[in-house]
Amino acid sequence: MSEILVLVEQVDGEVKKVTLELLTLARGLGTPAAVWAGPGYTPDAKAKLAEYGAEKIYVAGSEEITGYVVGPKAELLAQLVADKSAAAVLVAATAEGKEVAGRLAVKIDSGVITDAVGLGDGFVAEQSIFGGGVNVQSKVSRGTPIVAVRPNSTAPEAAAGAGAEEEVSVSLSDAAKSARIVERVKQEKGARPELTEAAIVVSGGRGVGSAENFSVIEGLADALGAAVGASRAATDAGWYPHQFQVGQTGKTVSPQLYIAAGISGAIQHRAGMQTAKTIVAINKDPEAPIFELADYGIVGDLHQVVPQLTEEVDKRK
Ligand SMILES: Cc1cc2nc3c(=O)[nH]c(=O)nc-3n(C[C@H](O)[C@H](O)[C@H](O)COP(=O)(O)OP(=O)(O)OC[C@H]3O[C@@H](n4cnc5c(N)ncnc54)[C@H](O)[C@@H]3O)c2cc1C
Repeated sequence: MSEILVLVEQVDGEVKKVTLELLTLARGLGTPAAVWAGPGYTPDAKAKLAEYGAEKIYVAGSEEITGYVVGPKAELLAQLVADKSAAAVLVAATAEGKEVAGRLAVKIDSGVITDAVGLGDGFVAEQSIFGGGVNVQSKVSRGTPIVAVRPNSTAPEAAAGAGAEEEVSVSLSDAAKSARIVERVKQEKGARPELTEAAIVVSGGRGVGSAENFSVIEGLADALGAAVGASRAATDAGWYPHQFQVGQTGKTVSPQLYIAAGISGAIQHRAGMQTAKTIVAINKDPEAPIFELADYGIVGDLHQVVPQLTEEVDKRK
């Protein structure tokens, strides 16, 4: 079977969950081949990639690959597509992943699909468009399909692969080196999972009422091992930091469970969470549009409902 290249997302050598999801998807479509771009490759990383089905691991460990903004990764993938006659390329639909995908598409003259929430036989991708209002199935009709898949689109399943390593060197063009990274500032990692990767997200909106009250949302999130999100009304009010905003102009999340508390369900918010597998809404207004979207709805004051929920979850631990 032809190889499906999977661009590995990693932080300090730790493979991110979305990569395991992509390997799981790739297994159903061909031979999964992980592509490690930049330094930091370790035996642990190899073990993790092989555990989730990587038959091949291409390691391009040069500092140059990550020393410049996205261009080198696109060139590395373009080289591998040509050398290995890859059947498809999968990347995570993160801001960087999508930019790599776009550049790669231009380089190899192929079609690209972004923000896929599923991928099936014949590389038919499922996408949720128009702010999540319509689901479409799309297929690349030219060249090697490149698909950027949203985190949490599939559950990662372990299935051992050979994990055969091959070192790759790539000579970068001047164009790929035109934007150099001069500084990296590490964001302090809290105890909670990363918002776009979390399996459960608990979000608060204007109904939360104040910055202090967000502790209610955090309490439920911590009981569930979830990430915290917020509507734009809450972030604009300064109640929660902007990097946690979910929606059209914030983050796109696709968790197994999304709990929206005190959020009305404006189209711009829905655009960022509509593909969640199960949606629970807590709102004191029974007419709130979020209930049209929710799988389960609780009409009530979140300041009463959310602490009760937290207590119940804690009891079951
Ligand atoms: C170009 C553009 C981009 C945008 N991008 C985004 C985006 O990325 N993300 C985003 O979220 N918004 C975005 N917005 C804003 C969006 O249109 C809404 O204004 C916003 O989502 C509203 O946030 P909210 O639901 O928290 O507030 P509101 O719409 O004010 O809703 C608050 C809800 O809380 C309920 N409530 C109040 N008190 C309680 C209580 N005690 N208990 C339970 N329920 C209670 C109310 O019944 C109400 O339904 C964007 C807007 C524009 C124009």
